Amino acid sequence: MRVAVFSCKPYDKRTLSDCAHGTSLSLSFFESRLSMETVKLVQDFDAVSCFVNDDINADVIASLKQQGVHVIALRCTGFNNVDLQAAKDQDVQVFHVPDYSPTSVAEHAVALIMTLNRKTHRAYHRVKEGNFALEGLMGFNLEGKTVGCVGTGRIGAAFCRIMKGFGCHVYCYDLYPSEALIELGCEYVSLEDLYEKSDIISLHCPLNQSTHHLINQQTLAKMKDGVMIINTSRGALVHAQEAIDALYTGKIGFLGLDVYEQENEIFFEDMSSHIIQDSVFQLMLTFPNVVVTGHQGYFTHEALSHIAATTVDNLLHYRTKESQSRRLA
Ligand code: NAD
Repeated sequence: MRVAVFSCKPYDKRTLSDCAHGTSLSLSFFESRLSMETVKLVQDFDAVSCFVNDDINADVIASLKQQGVHVIALRCTGFNNVDLQAAKDQDVQVFHVPDYSPTSVAEHAVALIMTLNRKTHRAYHRVKEGNFALEGLMGFNLEGKTVGCVGTGRIGAAFCRIMKGFGCHVYCYDLYPSEALIELGCEYVSLEDLYEKSDIISLHCPLNQSTHHLINQQTLAKMKDGVMIINTSRGALVHAQEAIDALYTGKIGFLGLDVYEQENEIFFEDMSSHIIQDSVFQLMLTFPNVVVTGHQGYFTHEALSHIAATTVDNLLHYRTKESQSRRLA
């Protein structure tokens, strides 16, 4: 099977090549994202492998199908960038990697919380400059604080377990409550209650029509003043401009983002010599109580190895029963 691998970085190439070594897969690597502009690269391929910011819309899928592609193997969990109905209509099978390492993203959410709280991002620069003053670096104890987790699937559940370990009260909201989390002492409440009572709110639900701009002016108004918002899920869960307005008023006291709605223009590239043409993003970076990371929640050795192994397995065994649990279309 000939596979065109899109959005491929050197670390993807290394892990995928290792896993595919000695198999019937022949991988070709493309740094560019899959889109209507790049789909013409897919000549003489049976499958494509894509990542979070590839634009796999109906036109792209039709073009893939026309060129003989019958499998799309996503190297991620989320699939909001794929038109699954179009894939079904075109009889193109779509696979994803459902649970490569929930811990990696959950731990990154906690890293954002700890950075924002104890201001290690600021302390690091101060100490490098020989400034050991503590003014402005005061944090708070996590123990006893109330943490709200929106979405308690694989990543959300891992996050809740860690926060219970810190001694936090954990409020959860999900369409399908988890018995295991209830047993652990987490409490499922309405979204309204979660907004009203949480000191920290971490988002772990998928992006879909019902969660688009979940964090907006109206929902922020229901939250505590100075609330900490953490988003490691998908950028469009947060209305960026309205979050900025709330940072100005102090409604948001801390904002930790690993994802951003317009990230596909910026993330995963070295933009240090470019002028970023996104004034909302630029403004966000100026706040001392905002920490942004470039979609690196998943980026651990364990997760990358698992992504590569599952992607290769999806491609090799897409017809078998065992891979059907990872099939989206
Ligand atoms: P999952 O499918 O295991 O869990 C998602 C949970 O959200 C489910 O329990 C589901 O019932 C719940 N949910 C659905 N709609 C909801 C709603 N309207 N309100 C509240 N809960 C709702 O997925 P997961 O593996 O835990 O991943 C969660 C998200 O994390 C993914 O959708 C993806 O966008 C994101 N993610 C980010 C990174 C990263 O590197 N930052 C990596 C992997 C995944």
